[in-house]
Amino acid sequence: MTRLFTRAVLALGSNLGDRTETLSAAVAELVDRPEVRLRDVSPVVQTEAVGGPADQPDFLNMVLEIETLLGPYELLEHCHAVEAAHHRTRAVRWGPRTLDVDIITYGEVLSSDDRLTLPHPRAAERAFVLYPWSLMDPQATLGGVSVVELAARAADMPSVGHFEGIEPCGGKAGREHTVQPAP
Ligand code: ADP
Ligand code: MG
Repeated sequence: MTRLFTRAVLALGSNLGDRTETLSAAVAELVDRPEVRLRDVSPVVQTEAVGGPADQPDFLNMVLEIETLLGPYELLEHCHAVEAAHHRTRAVRWGPRTLDVDIITYGEVLSSDDRLTLPHPRAAERAFVLYPWSLMDPQATLGGVSVVELAARAADMPSVGHFEGIEPCGGKAGREHTVQPAP
């Protein structure tokens, strides 16, 4: 039987090491196989870490739209392999990580499995996912609601700013571009 390509949205985050280098390498690695095609890439945003230990470095976040022949669990395994290639450790939940790759949506698939929950259970309230997604695809919806609207409603929207592409030397580049949520 011929398998069809399924569209999926992936969210990438990095808050350790050379974050821009990690994100660009991860995008290349995620699509570096014939079963995965890149459809679209969001701008990179800079986000204060939410939850987890205090005083961790800011995250850089972005989302991708791909189309893939991989099944949802094969895609999850592939995402974990790309994380592992960047020496991600899971010592502290929500702690700093060189790379986090989450599957936000996989086609229209709904899953409540802990190993792979679809759509991603926290995506609808995370501006660091919703905002770059809305910039990439303003028409996108999640659970029937516009991602533009969900981003504006997200509590962490004030902590998400545009990233200008220059790694800060201990500073917080991009913070001056913080975007305010819609009234
Ligand atoms: P988080 O992304 O929430 O910070 P982790 O990356 O450490 O946390 O993921 C913890 C577990 O979440 C993974 O082992 C994975 O199996 C599971 N998981 C459940 N749903 C998803 C999803 N949609 N995308 C990625 N991982 C998921
Ligand atoms: Mg993850």
